Amino acid sequence: MTADVVIAGAGPNGLMLACELSLAGVRPIVLERLPGRTEENRANGLVGQVVRALDRRGLYERLSGSPEPPRPSPVFVFGAMPLDLGRLDDNPMYGLPVPQRRIEQVLEERALELGVEIRRGHELTGLSQDEDGVTVEIAGPEGPYRLRTRYLVGADGGHSVTRKLCGIGFPGVTRDDSVSRGAHVSVPAELIDPVTGGLNVPGYGPIPPFMHHRTDHGLFVYGPFPTGTLINTTEWHQDGGDQPMSLDELRESVRRVLGVDLPFGPPKGPGPHQLRRLTGGNTRLAERFRDGRVLLLGDAAHVHSAIGGPGLNLGLQDAVNLGWKLAAEIHGWAPPGLLDTYETERRPAAERVVMHTQAQAALIAPGPEVTALRALFTELLRDERTTKHIADMMSGADIRYDLEGTHPLTGRPAPDLVLETETGSVRLAELTKTARPLLLDLTPDGALAGALDGRRDRVDLVTAKTSRDGLPTALLLRPDCYVAWASDSLRPDAKERDTLRTALASAFGVAG
Ligand SMILES: Cc1cc2nc3c(=O)[nH]c(=O)nc-3n(C[C@H](O)[C@H](O)[C@H](O)COP(=O)(O)OP(=O)(O)OC[C@H]3O[C@@H](n4cnc5c(N)ncnc54)[C@H](O)[C@@H]3O)c2cc1C
Repeated sequence: MTADVVIAGAGPNGLMLACELSLAGVRPIVLERLPGRTEENRANGLVGQVVRALDRRGLYERLSGSPEPPRPSPVFVFGAMPLDLGRLDDNPMYGLPVPQRRIEQVLEERALELGVEIRRGHELTGLSQDEDGVTVEIAGPEGPYRLRTRYLVGADGGHSVTRKLCGIGFPGVTRDDSVSRGAHVSVPAELIDPVTGGLNVPGYGPIPPFMHHRTDHGLFVYGPFPTGTLINTTEWHQDGGDQPMSLDELRESVRRVLGVDLPFGPPKGPGPHQLRRLTGGNTRLAERFRDGRVLLLGDAAHVHSAIGGPGLNLGLQDAVNLGWKLAAEIHGWAPPGLLDTYETERRPAAERVVMHTQAQAALIAPGPEVTALRALFTELLRDERTTKHIADMMSGADIRYDLEGTHPLTGRPAPDLVLETETGSVRLAELTKTARPLLLDLTPDGALAGALDGRRDRVDLVTAKTSRDGLPTALLLRPDCYVAWASDSLRPDAKERDTLRTALASAFGVAG
């Protein structure tokens, strides 16, 4: 038997890709070397445009537990400097404070609902490929075996075996000059400001919640997450030691960073609780994301500092970008070169994350010259345009894919829309859950009614009205909800219809 797609790794990105492929009618097999879901928790939340992307698959509601649509956050932090986002007209900084463990659970549940086969305890150990497919070697619970697949996706993390087996280099830097310590703790209630939710540190002063706080000696973060209160420190030029991490070690670190004692005790509640020490970090980008029939996804393709929480904003959107393109290849209708646009579109997104996480790492380091640089940045951030620029960069809203077309929305994520359809009012996010290509005809007379004649098997058409001014009158959306074509005409003329036909052909391979 030949599988269509094998995905190595049931981390968040591999699971997301599995969901996307299933929605597109391809059933992948997911191999995961661990026998069960990990208790380890890395991310404490999702930051940026990924929150909207998950909303557009119905996953935001599952993760937030609320039927309300996502709203942008009025504050965030860049290099331990607050960003006043509430003053932006178009704030792109969405956030969802949910532990990675829960994200993986929700994605796994969704993948299983969609019929994905997840083989736990099955480790990819070897691969060889030819023109028609990839032979994957696997160490399973009952011994080694082989699987033949048309495509293999390595979503197997920063130490990706897939990447190494393909001989794809992973250039970048490894830093080992900093130590981060973090733990769930309980803090005396009287230290918590009932208005701001911040922490009043005796002898030091107030520290706002979730804001990285830099001193001359390091970084301190107080995170009162719904799942428990996290305290985190980062120090430089310090040996982490090889003793098991302890709350006492964190206490001493807090004393060095803040210069005072912070009274805290062990965490309350059932856990699992975090208690960890991490040394240094890697910033690396794969030389290429594709080797023939093998593709790299998420941390297998890029690793960087976790500052600002950009990892899953990048990786989950990689998965949404790759899913429909790989499915198009499997179904045999992908226009030439479509699969290669996975890398041309997502590498620049990864490069920007590498850039801004390294910039932030420089801005939080100790030293008087860094303090001076921060003073300058603080002045620059008073300018609303600078704040917007940084927010767009951190959230990934400044990504514009290089698609043909002159409309300002082409290559950008679709705006949030509330549409009046024949059956009532509906959010665009409701229409995109199926991950189908979608032509939205918002012209007053449904002028594009016939534009998809003979193509409806591949592209859906929705005719609707919007009450908001300044929106396009028609939009062609890719399954990843990026705009492939748009118009502002009340009645698109022959020339515009030609550009629509070109867009349909280059994105979805439908004859013009
Ligand atoms: C301390 C820390 C804090 C972070 N905080 C945030 C945050 O707040 N927000 C955020 O967005 N991101 C954060 N990140 C980044 C985020 O955790 C990663 O980007 C994310 O886990 C990457 O997902 P992935 O699916 O690509 O890889 P992984 O999560 O590493 O999953 C890879 C999977 O592949 C499996 N595997 C490995 N090798 C094989 C093999 N040979 N065969 C089969 N299976 C294999 C592994 O067991 C694993 O399950 C943080 C990271 C760290 C380290």
